[in-house]
Amino acid sequence: MPNWTIGRRNGAWVAVSDWVPTTCMRCAVGCGHMHQGADEGYGIDAARGDAAHPVSQGLACARGLRESKAPDGEWLTRPMVRSGGELRQTQWDVALARAVEGLQAVYQRDPDSVAVLGSGQQTNEAAYALGKVARGGFGTRNYDANTTLCMASAVTAYYQAFGSDAPPCTYADISDADRHVVWGANPAVAHPVMFRWIQQSADEDGVEIIVVDPVRSETAENSEHHVAPDPGKDLALARAVLARIVETGRVDREFVDEATEGFEDLLATLPDAADAAAEAGVEMAEVDLLADAMDQQALIYWGMGINQHVQGTETARALIDLTLVTGNLRPGGGPFSLTGQANSMGTRICSSKGSWPGQRAFEDPDHRRLVADHWDVPVDRLPDDTGPGPVGMLQAEPDAVWAVATNPVAGMPEADSVRETLEDAFVVVQDAFHTETTEIADVVLPAATWGESDGTTTNMERTISRVRSATDVPSGVRSDLDIIATIGSRLFPGLFESTSPDPSDVFDEFTALTEGTVADCSGITYERLDDSHAVRWPAPDDDSAGGYRYYDDESWSFPTASGRAQFSTGRQESLPEPTDDDYPLTLTTAREADGYNTGVRSRGGEAGTLVARIHPETVEEHSGLVTDDRLTVETRRGSATVAIDRDEGVPEGMVWLPIHHPATNRLTLSDRDPQSDEPNFKQCAARLVAAEAELPPATAD
Ligand code: SF4
Repeated sequence: MPNWTIGRRNGAWVAVSDWVPTTCMRCAVGCGHMHQGADEGYGIDAARGDAAHPVSQGLACARGLRESKAPDGEWLTRPMVRSGGELRQTQWDVALARAVEGLQAVYQRDPDSVAVLGSGQQTNEAAYALGKVARGGFGTRNYDANTTLCMASAVTAYYQAFGSDAPPCTYADISDADRHVVWGANPAVAHPVMFRWIQQSADEDGVEIIVVDPVRSETAENSEHHVAPDPGKDLALARAVLARIVETGRVDREFVDEATEGFEDLLATLPDAADAAAEAGVEMAEVDLLADAMDQQALIYWGMGINQHVQGTETARALIDLTLVTGNLRPGGGPFSLTGQANSMGTRICSSKGSWPGQRAFEDPDHRRLVADHWDVPVDRLPDDTGPGPVGMLQAEPDAVWAVATNPVAGMPEADSVRETLEDAFVVVQDAFHTETTEIADVVLPAATWGESDGTTTNMERTISRVRSATDVPSGVRSDLDIIATIGSRLFPGLFESTSPDPSDVFDEFTALTEGTVADCSGITYERLDDSHAVRWPAPDDDSAGGYRYYDDESWSFPTASGRAQFSTGRQESLPEPTDDDYPLTLTTAREADGYNTGVRSRGGEAGTLVARIHPETVEEHSGLVTDDRLTVETRRGSATVAIDRDEGVPEGMVWLPIHHPATNRLTLSDRDPQSDEPNFKQCAARLVAAEAELPPATAD
């Protein structure tokens, strides 16, 4: 609820909304924002950086401010239920009753037939509450979040290497690094404020940025070196660098002996460096460039280019190995996975998706009993495995789906089959904006969004800070937490104290569950966050806050069985869908500047023209098929007509499509990393054929 003071507007004294300190929910950098609500009605009138916020100290990017203040999406303002085949506006009581009735009917037949999909866009409190309903109410295995589509391989790699998830390093390490190796990520576009810090560091003498990416990205354009492996061959390249470091006697034996385990196994499986370089499609000089970088104080950042691969976990492990073998696991260096969505990290520690709150292991009966007691539900209701991930959940064809702040019809691979599955199910969608998924929902519940909700969020370096509402919302809109608690309470009386819980009470309930864990947040309260703006976990008491993990006073300790960090042995395997005579091109997908997830906030209500970036030589080779500067991209799963953007930054033989367009995932592949369940969005086989259809009109965006 906003407050007002008296201020001058247009020469007159009027009631003016106060500036409200909050946290940007656009990306996981987690910059502090100040929002000013509308003086009359609702909405955000103004947004700026918050100089008092310790994470960003006043910095904020134009994109985060613009999308906080004036997103392009088509707002949902009233609940809707499907009647006579049409979605019709209705009252909240009617919509909630319909949602509860539909979910209950399926749950009573089979809890696992209810699929619940959360999001990295929820506050910690809403994510915790949704996990409580999914795991402690329904007791379903089939609960996950869209964060698995982008982060799960990094999460799994961290658990395997260190016994705990989350980057050991923090933003404070950026200015101390001598080499910034950005591998399969494009922070110039995805994390603008963080990339500014990286560039500031690289402005110093002797400090360099090296980008590894098949595509000459915006980050590559702004770096000293660009290494371009063949698509999907990052593991071969990482192992070539590891082999070169070993061959040239640059292993930090003291660190390896003191803090790690499995080095001999790594050695036994390392390839010949030159052979691996050839497999990755790079020159040995580029392998040496990366090996030399690891001789320095180096940070390795990576993103979806690594994670969205059937060997995403093994590749992330190999990047971690590079830091272990060279002793780059100490302040100023380390493996830093770049989280995408604003609260992906929050879903990892509080949502009961891949672990119980506080990174408690699912399969551990003691942890399961503790969680059941905390929630006051029978322990045998809680599943003992985390489920098959979002792709597997929908492939199992659930009878009911509850999607919160996510758009699976556009965001999942093989989107046509996802749409068919959802059309056959009872679907409840809870979102702030119209999406491709709301179109096929049975019940649509309009939820408050950034600037309208209270709670907390957790950025990619483990820092928790407050999000606060700066405006009222229309009477037809409710907060995510209220909607979840209301549905949860009606289905499972007693699961929540109230249908409109205070977010701080939910936060306290969550942090109490983390006490004594590796992700201990029990020393963080709303009062502490109000005083200090932001606190990094682990924070087991009122005064402590997390710093560099696993390292303290020149010694290391890891929450693994042996107390040591673990090396890996993964080897590059063939791609799940290599190119062949029928489909000779590689399709890749990536973020375009200012594109937002499936685009609901950044492209308005219309999908607009799908634009493919293709090398001019590749276009020339298909010139006989081009009509009005458009072509059709075809894969074994579908086709899409595209406008052509001739781009020499894209390698020959590749078609680059934006992840934000709903047509893109009609073409992608649903093969997954067997360890993380993350889909292989980054490569599949494609071909170009004559343009089939008229392009839809471009939107203003
Ligand atoms: S860098 Fe990310 S968190 Fe910071 S203002 Fe921009 S979008 Fe928001």
